[in-house]
Amino acid sequence: MEQTFIMIKPDGVQRGLIGDVIARFEKKGFYLKGLKLITVERSFAEKHYEDLSAKPFFAGLVEYIISGPVVAMVWEGKNVVVTGRKMIGATNPSNSEPGTIRGDYAIEVGRNVIHGSDAVESARKEIALWFPEGLSNWQSNLHPWIYE
Ligand code: UDP
Ligand code: MG
Repeated sequence: MEQTFIMIKPDGVQRGLIGDVIARFEKKGFYLKGLKLITVERSFAEKHYEDLSAKPFFAGLVEYIISGPVVAMVWEGKNVVVTGRKMIGATNPSNSEPGTIRGDYAIEVGRNVIHGSDAVESARKEIALWFPEGLSNWQSNLHPWIYE
């Protein structure tokens, strides 16, 4: 099944939003396959965001991501990449709908609480980068209550 990489950024950790974010993905019906609290080094943050290295906000973005621990997660389920992005909301919280994570909890684009992979292929790359040790392959007993 499809998997996505979700990261609660340092502001989300500091602000006590870990439980809420996890609860939203759990209650939706997605399965948690990887989870860790980790403070990453500059070179690692630069690798994660390498596609954005030419952007004017890149240096500030890297500083932000290395400013404290993040919660790195892998969530699994049907259409989890696209649905996860919808649950997260627009990149700039000024444009994020209420009911989304950024819409409910963030004000500024440079403090937007959470990251989610933007495509199946980038999810694959990000999961390999963040979880080289591999994932847990447990199966939920709720499966037939979530999928028809
Ligand atoms: N970002 C920023 N300023 C901008 C655009 C993006 O600080 O003008 C930050 C923001 O934290 C965003 C991250 O860079 O989440 C990655 O940007 P991307 O366009 O990939 O947005 P996302 O996929 O996170 O919605
Ligand atoms: Mg992105």
